[in-house]
Amino acid sequence: MVGLGTDPNKCGEDCPMRGASLLARVVFVLAVVGAVSVLIATAPRAQDAAPRSDPAYRQFLLGLWTDAKAAGVSRATFESAIAGLDAPDLSLPDLVLPGKPKIDSSGQAEFTRPPDKYLDKSYLDRLAAEGRQLLVRHKAALDRIEAEIGVDRYSVLAIWGRETAFGKHKLPHDAIRVLATQAYLGRRKELFRAELIAAFKMLESGVARSDMRASWAGAVGLTQFMPTEYFLHAYDLDRDGKTDIFRSVPDALASAARQLEGKGWVRGQNWGTEVVVPPSSDCALEGPLQSRSLSEWAKLGFSRASGGPFTTTELAADAYLMSPAGAYGPSFLVFENFKVLRKYNTSDLYAVFVGHLADRIAGGGDFAGRWGGTGPQNTRVIEQIQERLKAKGFDVEKIDGKIGSNTRKVIGAYQRANRLKVDCWPTNAVLDHLQGRVSIQ
Ligand code: CA
Repeated sequence: MVGLGTDPNKCGEDCPMRGASLLARVVFVLAVVGAVSVLIATAPRAQDAAPRSDPAYRQFLLGLWTDAKAAGVSRATFESAIAGLDAPDLSLPDLVLPGKPKIDSSGQAEFTRPPDKYLDKSYLDRLAAEGRQLLVRHKAALDRIEAEIGVDRYSVLAIWGRETAFGKHKLPHDAIRVLATQAYLGRRKELFRAELIAAFKMLESGVARSDMRASWAGAVGLTQFMPTEYFLHAYDLDRDGKTDIFRSVPDALASAARQLEGKGWVRGQNWGTEVVVPPSSDCALEGPLQSRSLSEWAKLGFSRASGGPFTTTELAADAYLMSPAGAYGPSFLVFENFKVLRKYNTSDLYAVFVGHLADRIAGGGDFAGRWGGTGPQNTRVIEQIQERLKAKGFDVEKIDGKIGSNTRKVIGAYQRANRLKVDCWPTNAVLDHLQGRVSIQ
């Protein structure tokens, strides 16, 4: 698994691309298709798109030896690791191919995946049901994880469910090949270079190459560890002298728990709670910069969506409003542990998925509010909205074509300022208004 911001399979506000998570896979497919179509569009012959040998790439790999050696990797391990890696894998997403815009297989612009598709109800139902069975099967290990590491059993299982569907996802790539390609051509070369060196170290420590199967971003094992995180957090829970995140469920779950602990997990705190936004407020109050104690939110009229009072612990905790679908879906007041989940994967939807799945495994029900009405959105439209809002002096953090917390809040602020319907969502109507064209409801 990976961590915040600086981690290679993290890519911004609501970037879904990481590890083997479902949304990552979907966006991954879009991106792969985009990359492939770029190749098809620009290469006269298929073999040009995937050269069998790339001398500059080989040179790059050989040049890693100094770092690998300094990290304690033997020459034999190093040579064996890069043997056969003659050209980068251009089918991977998130590569920088100069002058090539991201497009999908139909030649259309990339689209974001709408929240209701990411938080698919039937998929969550299935994972929650299986999670409740695993709660029983792995009770002994989960008891020890709570006692030794302090992360609750439901969150740990939810991570496993989110990452590899409890080990059912087949990881499609050789991790070394993926990391080498990303270190050579990726958008975040330096980060992946460090991951590749750590992956060499994993091989040196005795991990079998055949176990190093990965998502597109090079995360490995049942709960999807990046190699650098493996060395920080892997944990031998079953005390057999080996840390096996590939086959030992106790080790993999404990290692995931250690990652959460290392990123600041607050014992005994939940991730957040779904709320009803009072008519006097709106989604423009979203985001960590507008954080306040839950008791203050309660004074503003926010209430628990499922009914019932907030607990004393909740009321004392700092929380921020988070509406991943703007006005078109449930809103949440989220606590510190939501931020910790986001460090695992920098995506609001990812963190909501894991937190909600944990609640469901613990016996909770579906979301009270309904998702829907947003549809997929063209990333170029989002970028244009971000560019124009920034030009108008709004506090846009990033022009990245992604619908994150900051983007939603800023759109809401713009809508408020212009007395438009406040839905905090990057619709074509918002862009029309920004461009001086009329339309907007
Ligand atoms: Ca073990």
